[in-house]
Amino acid sequence: MTIHRKPEWLRKKINPAAHGAMDELLGELRLHTVCREARCPNITECFRERQATFLILGAECTRLCSFCNVAKGEPLPPDPDEPARVAQAVVRLSLAHVVITSPTRDDLPDGGAGHYAATVAAIGRGAPATAVELLVPDFLGSRTALADVVAAAPRIIGHNVETVPRLYAIRAGADYGRSLAVLRTLRELAPGCATKSGLMLGLGETEEEVLAVMADLRRVDCTYLSLGQYLAPSRFHHPVREFVPPETFDRLKGLAEKMGFRHVESGPYVRSSYHAAGYAGQARTY
Ligand code: SF4
Ligand code: SF4
Repeated sequence: MTIHRKPEWLRKKINPAAHGAMDELLGELRLHTVCREARCPNITECFRERQATFLILGAECTRLCSFCNVAKGEPLPPDPDEPARVAQAVVRLSLAHVVITSPTRDDLPDGGAGHYAATVAAIGRGAPATAVELLVPDFLGSRTALADVVAAAPRIIGHNVETVPRLYAIRAGADYGRSLAVLRTLRELAPGCATKSGLMLGLGETEEEVLAVMADLRRVDCTYLSLGQYLAPSRFHHPVREFVPPETFDRLKGLAEKMGFRHVESGPYVRSSYHAAGYAGQARTY
């Protein structure tokens, strides 16, 4: 069943007129954000607070996830000046915590790992006090690529499992076991670095399946968890199967905390980078 009408707890408004200062900065520095490319419903709130999640390595993805609004196509080679421009943005926005992500770049020999590392290094030079969180693709499971990213010493590294294994057809090119292995490898390579994963709910999963994924994430010692409502970017994307009520998100948060996640964000508007600084406060105590 496809559901079209949003319930009253999902009526957040996007107001592009309030994005002016951020739009100007991002335009001047020629930077992409996942906020815009993924049509995140929190964009007005986050841009007003001068928060953004930078999308490095271009705005075109080599994979075809049916839930995602990021453009699909043949991306350009990495821009060697981009890490410095991201660092400039971090400085100009006085960010205490910044989240960096990218499309999946299966076309690059290292999947873009070197560019991630260069971006962390550039931020480290320009804004050494800023906590850097990376939300990385699976790098086709390459331990070498993950080691390159880890060596740059970000504060948090996330990799989203996105949904339950039964629904992985919507993550074309991805593999549930490989995503868990990415999180396990990150833990092995950097035992002191917090890891993070997230799921979207409302894609047709059952609660038992969500709990099973949460247990799998704890088995690979994932530190942090985010749970949010899936919202289809358009009628051409995977349809919403259910609007999960806020009480269910609250209950799942309690269960996740009991399972041992150190910090859990769970709610209809939660995205992995939403209120990301709240996790960073926990990261040093891990
Ligand atoms: Fe951007 Fe994340 Fe905020 Fe969405 S929740 S607007 S992706 S920073
Ligand atoms: Fe979107 Fe990531 Fe899938 Fe690419 S791999 S289509 S960026 S969710």
